Amino acid sequence: MFRKAHFLFTILCAGSTTTIMVLMSLLYLRVSEHNLQDNYFSSFQKDIGTIVSGLEQSTYVSIQWLSGLEARNSYLIYVIDNDKPFLYNTLKDTLSHGFDDSSGQSLLMESLSIFHSRFEVETIVSPNNSYFGIDHFEYQFTSSVTGEPYYSSLIDLKRNQTHSQIVILNPLTHLQAQITRQRLLFAMLDLIAAVVFCVFSWLFTGKLLKPLQQNHENQIQFIAAASHELRTPLSVILASSECCAHATAEEQTGFFHTIRKEGIRMNTLINDMLTLAHSDANRFLVERKNAELDTLCTNAYEAFEPLCRQKHLTLSLTLPEVPLPRCLCDPERIAQVLSILLHNAVSYTPEGGQVALSLTYSQERKTAYEIIVSDTGIGISDAEKKQIFNRFYRAEKSRSTKGHFGLGLSIAYDIVTAHHGKITVHDNVNGGSVFIVQLPR
Ligand code: ADP
Repeated sequence: MFRKAHFLFTILCAGSTTTIMVLMSLLYLRVSEHNLQDNYFSSFQKDIGTIVSGLEQSTYVSIQWLSGLEARNSYLIYVIDNDKPFLYNTLKDTLSHGFDDSSGQSLLMESLSIFHSRFEVETIVSPNNSYFGIDHFEYQFTSSVTGEPYYSSLIDLKRNQTHSQIVILNPLTHLQAQITRQRLLFAMLDLIAAVVFCVFSWLFTGKLLKPLQQNHENQIQFIAAASHELRTPLSVILASSECCAHATAEEQTGFFHTIRKEGIRMNTLINDMLTLAHSDANRFLVERKNAELDTLCTNAYEAFEPLCRQKHLTLSLTLPEVPLPRCLCDPERIAQVLSILLHNAVSYTPEGGQVALSLTYSQERKTAYEIIVSDTGIGISDAEKKQIFNRFYRAEKSRSTKGHFGLGLSIAYDIVTAHHGKITVHDNVNGGSVFIVQLPR
């Protein structure tokens, strides 16, 4: 499920960023190509302007001047003198640009026909006219002969009785090549960026989904462990109730006792699970009041003292000699923590052992209050110390202890954390364990 979600999130993330990027680069390309074409056309017009001013100053058009112009600018130039092709339009020139004579002529005809379709020019010159006039027209067309685009200029020259037309063609192969290069570059950059986005999205969404996945796995483990724990008392209850039907009155009392005991066990487990479920859903209710921690410790001591006596354990209580400032906490929850720690200390300490409960206070410490529960019991190995606060964790040696589900310390941990405090476990120098609960002022 998470793998599929990871994959989909990656596609969504990378897909949306790549689409935005491609759209932006297409927009940029369009503007840039437009500017490039504009610049190219302006520079062509400028060149034509220079040629026209050259023509204005000279009395005739020489072949050397025309061939120099062609060579310098890679232009194709055709001259029509009084409606007849000028001597200059030779095979040599058209071949130098890759056309044979006939295709050169066709190109010229095509350019002229496009010119006539777009512009209207007076071409008749009266025989007695001493008029001098020069006009030029620039336009773009794509040749059906060569299949290539051209900028074309027609310079219309009327001088005395002669009428010349100079057609200058600028093949746009350079511009096309530049545009193609730019498009390829952008396509390559887009492709690289798309790959980078994919990798980044995969890592990013993976990181994002990790806590969710962990949570989901924890939930599955929790449900599996909870069902396992509930199944044991439930099967005992079912078996006992079935046996009740054929049992004697005396036996029935025994079965009822077992059913009640297992029912209480289930009730405790369900309450613990509900507490943790509330904590997981961030609905852990902490009702803070000004509480006297020393009173809470005394109450806990009094509650566990009979049990310790019964188990032949020594239970001691050490409180500060001076009265303590009240602690802003949920007294019921803190009492629950004390009960969990003392219950564990009593459960995991063999007969004749010692359990000690103490409370210290120091204004200098950030966590001013410290509740310490120590015992001289079986102790906790370093490997176990890392796991005991996990849900349903029970050390192998304590599995046989009935009424222990491995939830107590996780509940204690959640309560203390909700109070912005800290709970830690250490080895007792006399053997056994020491649990320290630190609470802020
Ligand atoms: P449980 O209900 O099994 O005691 P806890 O969450 O309270 O669950 O404790 C988890 C495990 O930590 C216990 O199963 C036990 O192995 C270990 N543990 C807790 N307290 C002590 C202690 N005082 N001495 C030794 N082991 C302890």
